[in-house]
Amino acid sequence: MLAVALLCGVSFWNERRSEPLLPTWRQVFSVFGLTGEEKQLQVPEGQLRIDFLDVGNADASVIRQGACTLLIDAGKDQNAEKIFSYLDAAGVKKLDYVIVTHFDDDHIGGMERVLRRFPPDLLIWSLSYKTPSTALSQALIQTIEEQSIPVVKAVPGTVYPLGEAELLLLGPSFDYEDDNNASVVCRVAFGTRGFLFMGDAALKAEQDTMELWGDRLPSDLIKVGHHGSSDSSNIHFLRKVAPQYAVLTCGEGNPYGHPHAQLLRRLSSCGIQTLRSDEQGRITVLTDGNSLEILTEK
Ligand SMILES: [Zn+2]
Repeated sequence: MLAVALLCGVSFWNERRSEPLLPTWRQVFSVFGLTGEEKQLQVPEGQLRIDFLDVGNADASVIRQGACTLLIDAGKDQNAEKIFSYLDAAGVKKLDYVIVTHFDDDHIGGMERVLRRFPPDLLIWSLSYKTPSTALSQALIQTIEEQSIPVVKAVPGTVYPLGEAELLLLGPSFDYEDDNNASVVCRVAFGTRGFLFMGDAALKAEQDTMELWGDRLPSDLIKVGHHGSSDSSNIHFLRKVAPQYAVLTCGEGNPYGHPHAQLLRRLSSCGIQTLRSDEQGRITVLTDGNSLEILTEK
């Protein structure tokens, strides 16, 4: 079968493209409808996979375990296509959960289009600070209503099953005025491994989360708040989480100075290894619940 396909492939490529006699593995995979990208995006059986997509100075993270998929945020408006191509290549047919951490453009920009194509079984968000009034957020709310997507407000302490993994909500704890502090904070646990997602939470939210949920914070990896801004990732908070890795979703040449030099020094002084989307592209985490593997695109 493989030989036939190979021959067909060779014949195909030769007739149509005048390419070399020996096909590349990419071409062989394409005969079976598989591209290299699709193979790279598979989740090995029994593992949890996290991909922090490279969407510039914005957030879009996909967490998969078993048949279950969670999307946290959807980047900027222009990032929807990138999210689609990832989900399509990964063979994701539906989203079980979507978390909208908060309503800033760099987190909900692509969300309306994502929800139209992949209406999730449940959308979790934070509406604790005020009714969002931007055009993007109003359009998002309208889409949620039109698509009849079930929505719940994030309640800290709530646990959702994510295949064999577990999603625990840890924030926001209060009705913050500041929309960054109102970010949904959550932790994904699989076996002995834990991963903390901070949205754009800043110092006040970190302090409150630490006081209320300190014993649940220790994790192997943290996606730090607010793209590596200096107003997030207090050193006491970092010491409490005590991660091995910190993911910084900062865009190359961004005008905000992310990641801030002070933060990089704090991470370094805590012995935390930084993973930066501006330098390393898409960042992938694979774990079977014990071992931990980090892969980067660049
Ligand atoms: Zn942001």
